[in-house]
Amino acid sequence: MKLLEDRIRAEGEVLPGGVLKVGKFLNQQMDPKLFYAMAEEWKRLYEGVEVNKILTIEASGIGIAAIVGLVFGCPVVFAKKSKTSNVTGGVWQTIVESFTHGVTNTVIVGREFLQPGDKVLIVDDFLANGAALEGMIDLVRQAGAEVAGAAIAIEKAFQPGGEQIRKTGVRVESLARVAAMDPETGVEFVK
Ligand code: 5GP
Repeated sequence: MKLLEDRIRAEGEVLPGGVLKVGKFLNQQMDPKLFYAMAEEWKRLYEGVEVNKILTIEASGIGIAAIVGLVFGCPVVFAKKSKTSNVTGGVWQTIVESFTHGVTNTVIVGREFLQPGDKVLIVDDFLANGAALEGMIDLVRQAGAEVAGAAIAIEKAFQPGGEQIRKTGVRVESLARVAAMDPETGVEFVK
């Protein structure tokens, strides 16, 4: 999606260690107009696919997911990162290793929010090694619900997550696919 690629080129910052900082429009500071355009693009891409629920993971997916929920006309659920493993009953839970923070989180969703028969579109800001998305897929399947697809803002296509997850048959639509990035030369997109 050209609009998103242009913003990344103009305002993104490549940090050493393979992290793309997009705090000016996507993470810390958010541009709701951009999110709305992104949500409309996913709506177009997923036309004809049944979706009745949006799932994301805290924290940085929530802003985008809220706008996606508005455009798709369905509720938005977010998985919570809980550092304790002795979580009480009534939740689906899985373990996710965080790419940016280098820690492992137990991630939970209340059982009432994901149910058999739900057709879930999973939303996230980044797809890198795939741990966050795999975790959310796991939560959906534990609930007996179905993954309608994934809606990712920025896929770092030089990391293995996207390919691995597509191979399992899950549809992944990423609006900007980064082929390579470097603190000196910036970001190059998949053509
Ligand atoms: P994965 O689990 O696919 O390795 O990484 C995805 C998660 O890590 C996303 O939820 C995102 O929050 C974070 N992440 C991964 N790579 C980057 C990056 O380059 N920049 C930022 N800002 N977040 C990232």
